Amino acid sequence: MSSVEYLKGIGPAKAKMLARLDIFSVADLLHYYPRTYQDRRENAANNGLNPPSLTVFKGRVLRTQTVPARSVLIFKAFLADAANNQIECTWFKRRTFRSFRFDPFGTLKKDFKINAEIWVIGRKENRNNFFDNKITVEEYYPANAPETAYQTGRITPIYGLTEGLTNKQMRQYMHEALFSAEAQNEPDILPPALAQKRQLLASTQALKAIHFPASLAELENARARLAYEEFLLLATAWGVKRTQTKAIAKGYGYEIKKNLLTPFRKNLGFDFTPSQKKVINEIFADLQSPLPMNRLLQGDVGSGKTLVALSAMLLAAENGYQSAIMAPTEILAEQHFLTFQKILKKLKVPVAVLTSSTKTPERKKILAALADGSLSVVVGTHALIQDDVKFKNLKLAVIDEQHRFGVKQRAKLKEKTAKLDLLTMTATPIPRTLALAFYGDLAVSTITQLPPGRRPIATQMADEYRARHIVAEEVQKGRQAYIVYPLIEESENISAKAVSEEFEKLKEVFPQFKLAMLHGQMSRTEKESVMKDFAAHKTDILVATPVIEVGIDVPNATVMVIENAERFGLASLHQLRGRVGRGQYDSQCILVAQHKGSVARERLSIICQTCDGFKIGERDMQLRGPGEILGTRQSGELEFKAGDLFKDRNILQWAIEDRDELLKDDPLLQKPEHAPFKQRLLELYQKNWHLIDLS
Ligand code: ADP
Ligand code: MG
Repeated sequence: MSSVEYLKGIGPAKAKMLARLDIFSVADLLHYYPRTYQDRRENAANNGLNPPSLTVFKGRVLRTQTVPARSVLIFKAFLADAANNQIECTWFKRRTFRSFRFDPFGTLKKDFKINAEIWVIGRKENRNNFFDNKITVEEYYPANAPETAYQTGRITPIYGLTEGLTNKQMRQYMHEALFSAEAQNEPDILPPALAQKRQLLASTQALKAIHFPASLAELENARARLAYEEFLLLATAWGVKRTQTKAIAKGYGYEIKKNLLTPFRKNLGFDFTPSQKKVINEIFADLQSPLPMNRLLQGDVGSGKTLVALSAMLLAAENGYQSAIMAPTEILAEQHFLTFQKILKKLKVPVAVLTSSTKTPERKKILAALADGSLSVVVGTHALIQDDVKFKNLKLAVIDEQHRFGVKQRAKLKEKTAKLDLLTMTATPIPRTLALAFYGDLAVSTITQLPPGRRPIATQMADEYRARHIVAEEVQKGRQAYIVYPLIEESENISAKAVSEEFEKLKEVFPQFKLAMLHGQMSRTEKESVMKDFAAHKTDILVATPVIEVGIDVPNATVMVIENAERFGLASLHQLRGRVGRGQYDSQCILVAQHKGSVARERLSIICQTCDGFKIGERDMQLRGPGEILGTRQSGELEFKAGDLFKDRNILQWAIEDRDELLKDDPLLQKPEHAPFKQRLLELYQKNWHLIDLS
């Protein structure tokens, strides 16, 4: 691979700047795709590509003029465009000492000779005046200059830049690179049969067209081809990994003894919903199969996933195995612990909770009990994946609210033991194609119904005054309420302070009621006692940060007020709303928004319109992009350059189908025509192979 430094026009200084964009080799440069494009064709249709203030035209110079001013120097050129409109182009230069000796407009004067034909790209100075023909020039190209052919008069690439680089330079480098040996010899790694089946552009052609497309249609074809390649590589990596791991049986089995499961179900006080029964059967079948389980359990907020997980964990306990459930927040871990403890005490199954605020002596005891196998069930947070946490006999791991964990954290829990059954749970459902792309051949179970008696939660936008009125009304009736404030700048610290201030104010607003406060900076015992008091209706109103987003379960609470609702993501709003409507009473959720911009409004109105978490999840995915939601964006492990997992769902679907076809024909990619593809696959994923291995 040759370094960009040796490309014409790039020296050591520019190479350093390019390195900041992770561009080191010519190949890196070629695969640095444009961020967007401008339509710089003559008479470009208004196709939404260009911002309204952008002006692009080829004109003829009528006259030029230098305008002296006190601190700046101004050069003006008057050009006639194709329709013979006169357009005034302006350049500004700061007056410097140098400008007394060198004419800063020397080059301009040379280029803007009367009657010269010139391409001008600029911005309208006064955007309000339709008839204003004055523009500030950003780039210009004499019509007969060689670089003009790729800089303008076409659909022109716009790149993400770094300090010291301009788009003009980037285009020049890219144009140079496209004529280099690297670009000419860019291997077409796609399996030929698949490329033909999908009628995809050849690799060299796609690469050329993604930078300098001849038309919008060609651009779309190029993008599709490059996205397909990325998706096919990922899908195949999963596929190969699956064949590798499938061959290895887990080497242990489960027997349904029912000595714990039967009393557990008897003690519950209610029946599982048919939907819960169905997914429990699916999970038990996986557990009994000789291959390790890798199942995602999807179910809306409040659909009863916890008890499904506990059923599986009890089956593990019946067989003398350890199981662990990992939750993203301490509050949720505590809540699970309380639920589990209540149930498991009667069954004489030992359970403990491990979080980062577990005190050292207690932590030591728990670690010892996990290591000698005497503790069968453990509930915890990230604290569970610390290196010194060792299990004697861990066979089942459950990850709750899995989308809140990064790919790496999920992988880490799995590494605790050689072979493991894995159940991940989420209320933010993932479209099947995405699930396949991200988690390989993952099995998915879905709880499609809520426990009986649940009613939709009436949701509205209202001002603070009205929200407080509703709170008072409900509390007078004997119900309870939550008032939630957003995290401020991601900092629990500042948020705790803000909530404390609001808490003091609210105590004055509601002198007749008992208020309590909950935030992440409180000690574990404090939090525990606040939660217990609220559950026992010793307090009426709980004022909190989003720490309560998951895990609080108080059936008597019927109002959820969310302050600064515009600051929350859709999934969070839905989760928060799910804290009410858990009992026999009608419940409501009130969104108090500060800025009512149209985007915020649209998002909030989605929440008001539907209580269906699956619909909300889909909209969220559209608005924020899947990377954000699946927790892969920060970690950057599964980033795509050309493909967009959401917009290119169809291409992803092709890639998954074709992967199956490819591996059926050639499971280990040994055929000579698949060699380039295999090589690229190894280059890409060898480093991250363990991340791919979730099966
Ligand atoms: P989520 O799926 O959001 O994690 P939870 O597991 O927290 O939901 O369950 C929400 C509430 O519903 C809990 O109080 C739980 O005890 C209750 N629940 C679960 N299953 C049933 C059922 N089949 N019938 C009645 N209540 C149920
Ligand atoms: Mg849950």
